[in-house]
Amino acid sequence: MSSLDARLGVLRGNAPPTPHNARTLAALNANPSCDRRTLIDAAGIDKAALAAHLGLPQQLTRSRLALDYGLAFERKVTAQGGAPLVPLLRQALGLTLSEVSYDDINSVGSAEDKSPLGRRHSRTRTHILSAARHKPGQPRTLLDHPVLRLTVAGHQVDLEPDIIAFQHDGDFYIVEIKSFPAIHGQPDPTKAAAALNQAAAYVLAMRELLADNGLPPERVSDTVILVNPRNFTQHPTATPYNACQPIKTLSRHLHRLRRVPELLDKIPPLTTLDLAPGPDNQPTRPRNELVAALATTQASYNPGCRHHCDLAFHCRNEARNQGRIAALGTAVRDDLAGIDTITTALALTDGQLHPARDQKDITHALRQSNCQFLWMSSRDLMTGDADAYAVRALMAGGS
Ligand code: SF4
Repeated sequence: MSSLDARLGVLRGNAPPTPHNARTLAALNANPSCDRRTLIDAAGIDKAALAAHLGLPQQLTRSRLALDYGLAFERKVTAQGGAPLVPLLRQALGLTLSEVSYDDINSVGSAEDKSPLGRRHSRTRTHILSAARHKPGQPRTLLDHPVLRLTVAGHQVDLEPDIIAFQHDGDFYIVEIKSFPAIHGQPDPTKAAAALNQAAAYVLAMRELLADNGLPPERVSDTVILVNPRNFTQHPTATPYNACQPIKTLSRHLHRLRRVPELLDKIPPLTTLDLAPGPDNQPTRPRNELVAALATTQASYNPGCRHHCDLAFHCRNEARNQGRIAALGTAVRDDLAGIDTITTALALTDGQLHPARDQKDITHALRQSNCQFLWMSSRDLMTGDADAYAVRALMAGGS
């Protein structure tokens, strides 16, 4: 075991590590500057278990009905050897596809198989490399349920996506089937962005596979195709997206994970988030100890955390208690760039604090814009953004 693994093991405690998956990798894109999350994920700590022990509300999970709806839609799109996908790909990629072969990697697993993931990965690898080495003009392939591997912080992470890798003349495209609708041809932008963040992990995993085998990684396209139900029907429609930006961003964050040793150096050596389960497997760690251990790591809360992190309510309370501007939303944070806390903003506004050189412009704007803040506060109330309302009201009242 490397010394890095040993240090992460101390942070995790006795629980087995929870590996990264496409969702946790997508969360890196959503809040890349959070050292707390970086350390917790690098150590493979179960965030849901931490949140449950801290008494935080559970993250909303999809209902059985929604899951069944998603599965039924996926089955419909991949029925008859993926036949419904061919015209969609033809339309989305502007290709003349007469026929495409279809291979479901999932079918290699069996109830008796003790390591289906490993076997499925090895089968995926063989298929992808063989398709990539084909000469132009060879058959196009749809590869369903591939199992991909991506190196994350020096460890190999298995990604088991519900995606299809489409190969055409040795080039690959990621096709994601999602059950949220595309209304008038446009999927919900927030959901589409989340899907593209996940797709970025698959693109990078496939590129890593090609590069490790001496093949050009750029043969995995930046174009990702989302297949969604059209309007409120079960008929599929395909939308191509240029995923270049999320791919670049995730790639940058994966490089950044190399600084995990640096982050570990910033916390006391024996810090642990161990829940110390008793004989009945229930956590025995006093909550205040756990909160104190979490506080040794630097969080970077923003309201978006609520969509992707189990610890969001804990970090929100912490950020509010510290009076952090970022806790009040990205709009307020952007308005007040360069000022970290509400106290500082108020002190600058009413002249109790002399602005630093890089705070002069924003201080001037704060002192001049009471009316605008009041107007924006009423807008925040109309849109239900209570956090933004609170800070704007504070500022209007503080000057
Ligand atoms: S909720 Fe907390 S730990 Fe999770 S990403 Fe946000 S700030 Fe980081």
